[in-house]
Amino acid sequence: MARADVIIENGTIVTEGGRFTADLVIADQQIAALTNNASGWEAGERIDATGLWLLPGGIDVHTHLREPDPELLEGFARGGAGAAAGGLTTVVEMPQAHPTTVTPEQFREKQRLVAEHAIVDMALWAGAIGPPKQTADDLAGMAEAGAAAFKSFMATSSPLFPAIDYGQLHWAMREAARLGLPYGLHAEDQALLADGLQRMRAVGRTDPLAHAESRPPLVETVAVNTALLLAAETGCHVHICHVASAGALALIHEAKARGQRVTAETCPQYLMLNTDDLERLAGFARCAPAIRDQAEVDAIWEFVHDGTIDIICSDHCPFTIESKEAGRNDIFAAPLGLSGVQTLLPAFFSEAVVRRGMAPERFVAMMAGNPARVFGLTPRKGTLAVGADADVTLLDPEATWTVSAGEALHGQKWTPYEGMTLTGRVRRTIRRGETIYDDTREGEERVTARPGSGTFLPRGYGELA
Ligand SMILES: [Zn+2]
Repeated sequence: MARADVIIENGTIVTEGGRFTADLVIADQQIAALTNNASGWEAGERIDATGLWLLPGGIDVHTHLREPDPELLEGFARGGAGAAAGGLTTVVEMPQAHPTTVTPEQFREKQRLVAEHAIVDMALWAGAIGPPKQTADDLAGMAEAGAAAFKSFMATSSPLFPAIDYGQLHWAMREAARLGLPYGLHAEDQALLADGLQRMRAVGRTDPLAHAESRPPLVETVAVNTALLLAAETGCHVHICHVASAGALALIHEAKARGQRVTAETCPQYLMLNTDDLERLAGFARCAPAIRDQAEVDAIWEFVHDGTIDIICSDHCPFTIESKEAGRNDIFAAPLGLSGVQTLLPAFFSEAVVRRGMAPERFVAMMAGNPARVFGLTPRKGTLAVGADADVTLLDPEATWTVSAGEALHGQKWTPYEGMTLTGRVRRTIRRGETIYDDTREGEERVTARPGSGTFLPRGYGELA
């Protein structure tokens, strides 16, 4: 009798290509079989998934778990616990740690920290800041070490991550094209943003809406326009992060139609929150790009449905409640970024599939298939095919529940979705055959994996098997 580690029985398998009933057999951390008759297998554990959907483990391509960092507000273990609770099995971590990830030495140090602390599997972005502080050898060295993609900021993110100017951007795109890595951009125009902030200062505005008005959609659209022109000229694959502008999306749509290699991501906060929420939540809804008004949100949804947006991700940031509270008196005093790694998959499922009728197959593409393809993790990640890593999210598609920070398993216990009722609840998360989250347990006990059980995923990981 063939020996399996785990057999998940009676569930509905949901893939990019369709849905069907089958038992999923896991052996040696991989999917060994999908079968209607698993009686020929002997199993260490049998999981009854009656009424549940089996999805490829979610992949969040945009997290800021921020390790290393002397303050360590989160880190790979606590951030990974939140990810596991949110049905994610892989995250792709951004380069804004302290120190940042802009040299091969810093990249390798981060890789070491993944091996020590990660709970979910992790790929890593490499920062591109351009000359004079960075050389072509730095970029090549990080690519060699397995970087998933490069990332730059067209508007200053922090003193450690200054805005990249057009010359530096052009240089970095040429290098990215040469090295064959996608090039991700925080696309907001630095000059228009500086002007917007100055306009708010000039009239003494510090209310929550002043944040949105200081960086309207046009700030993004101008940056995306420039990025697309430079990328087309260099032949690099440009990936636009957290798009929240219909104008920018129209440009991306046209570029795709011309055959340009461009992909785009957005986040639940640009699809489920609007400027009323920004007024209500103040600092707890301050992020960049800013939360939009409902007309813009509706327009962004059109580009989700037509496939212009390839990927849904969280842009999770672990800021303290205290630092976000500062936004009540002066919105500009709150740091930029929202908590969201644990709510990403269930919130987007509830809004896109349950409320707006997105096909579950397309949901799987945005949450797992496309992320794996863009970040060099196929065919082992992002799919439930035989031979792939056994990364499986068990979702109850009908369970309703209310989001509460009390359930947060990541480091900073707050969520902009507090009190929101969602349909679709993660019951179990399995990463390479190991249950890393079990919803039937209580509190912190629900995360069942130890730090360091997650592994580093170099770009091309999928081809190594
Ligand atoms: Zn980000």
